[in-house]
Amino acid sequence: SECLMSMEVKSSITDKLRSSGLLRTQGLIGGKWTDAYDGKTLEVHNPATGEVLADVSCMGQKETNDAISSAYDTFISWSKVTAAERSKCLRKWYDLLMAHKEELGQLITLEQGKPLKEAIGEVSYGASFVEFFAEEAKRVYGDIIPATLPDRRLFVLRQPVGVVGAITPWNFPLAMITRKVGPALACGCTVVIKPSELTPLTALAAAELSLQAGIPPGAVNVIMGNAPAIGDALLASPQVRKITFTGSTAVGKKLMAGAAATVKKVSLELGGNAPCIIFNDADLDVAVKGTLAAKFRNSGQTCVCANRVLVQEGIYEKFANALSKAVQNLKVGEGFTEGAIQGPLINKAALEKVETFVQEAVSKGAKVLLGGKRHSLGMTFYEPTVIGDVKSDMLLSREEVFGPVAPLLRFKTEEEAIHMANDTNAGLAAYIFTTNVQRTWRVSEALEYGLVGVNEGLISTEVAPFGGVKQSGLGREGSKYGMDEYLEFSSYEICMLGGYEQKLTVEVRR
Ligand code: NAD
Repeated sequence: SECLMSMEVKSSITDKLRSSGLLRTQGLIGGKWTDAYDGKTLEVHNPATGEVLADVSCMGQKETNDAISSAYDTFISWSKVTAAERSKCLRKWYDLLMAHKEELGQLITLEQGKPLKEAIGEVSYGASFVEFFAEEAKRVYGDIIPATLPDRRLFVLRQPVGVVGAITPWNFPLAMITRKVGPALACGCTVVIKPSELTPLTALAAAELSLQAGIPPGAVNVIMGNAPAIGDALLASPQVRKITFTGSTAVGKKLMAGAAATVKKVSLELGGNAPCIIFNDADLDVAVKGTLAAKFRNSGQTCVCANRVLVQEGIYEKFANALSKAVQNLKVGEGFTEGAIQGPLINKAALEKVETFVQEAVSKGAKVLLGGKRHSLGMTFYEPTVIGDVKSDMLLSREEVFGPVAPLLRFKTEEEAIHMANDTNAGLAAYIFTTNVQRTWRVSEALEYGLVGVNEGLISTEVAPFGGVKQSGLGREGSKYGMDEYLEFSSYEICMLGGYEQKLTVEVRR
């Protein structure tokens, strides 16, 4: 009956979204909602039920080129608008995103699957970037540099790079967009967004609200459909000066190579393989809570997810028991179900990947402490899982599992933990749990990671730089540093043609 009720609730939700104008299915080019030129569409599914939510325009190279042209034309004017005016538009967009928190959350739950409460949390988190960068827009300062000759003046202005191509993943359908589009617009850039084909509806709703906020038509364009064709068009265009990408490491590498042809700026937020290190001296409750948050949020589908839980021998049994007990209480369910904490995985392929990783570990001697199989709800639901005695050579340690599986590995010494933690090409997030102050500094500084959480499992905020080292990415998002990704530093040297030099010479002689 729970399920039946949620079906009814859902159809009334989609009806309401449609009548509010937030359920968009066409691409957005130059402020006009546009069908694919050949009329093609693609289906967007609810991962929890398999139902078709909408048929959206399936676009490619031609539509992308038109979106780039309109973004380029708009750049000429948007980059000249005063910073105060741009700030106001962004602030209005933020207000509208927050005013539609419920509807946007519902859209996220429908197309991505995460529980409604978590989805609404994503809206607040996503909107926080727009609010933060609305303020930063007013602080794009320049510099005056002491000149090398008396009749010269040298100064540096930070200028917008131009048209930005923003390619985003499905795991945070709103936040991955606002984290890019917020600073890009704040700097005076315009954007062509290519959201994931699995979750375009939230992106389209956010773009609709940007128009309502008074952000000029053409400043925000949205194209979805044939990802490689759209990607290639963005890469090939000399008018696109910047590619910002969040997604898999494999696609990130392709885009970086492709950007070389026109020497574009590139920033990449790629996959991680986060270690979560529990020392003997950790506060057990804090460590369990932190691991739970770092691992099981969004069904384990976040780039900063704890991927390997490294546990020191002395606390291993106690921690394994306490974590399993806590994980057992995670209620699995479709996102609109009351009290659901863990939703489905995004699709069949994701489910099969998780299964393969778990089976490989078990076949090599790891032990299932909890879960370890598909959930009885069917579809793409997987049981919240804890696996003990995982080794460094297993897939669960080597690669991102992107599912609700916590693999526990044992270690003896701090040195061994650091070595295990750094023994990967990834370097996005890491977590340590300890009550020893010296160890806190020693270990967090020894970790080759862009983000480190100490006694904390949730570490992303709009005010701090977010990004990875090694193969987890290039550049930073959020914070004042996030602005630099969309700016060029232009330096100007002014020669005063000698007049000033003469006067100065007289004064010096006196
Ligand atoms: P993905 O790389 O498959 O897709 C990301 C985006 O790239 C999608 O919009 C997709 O359509 C597009 N794309 C795919 N091929 C393309 C091509 N040839 N040209 C242009 N665009 C192309 O990744 P995903 O499965 O959507 O997301 C999961 C991955 O994203 C995970 O590895 C996760 O760690 C990573 N991620 C990283 C961060 C971060 O900030 N570092 C945040 C969220 C997700």
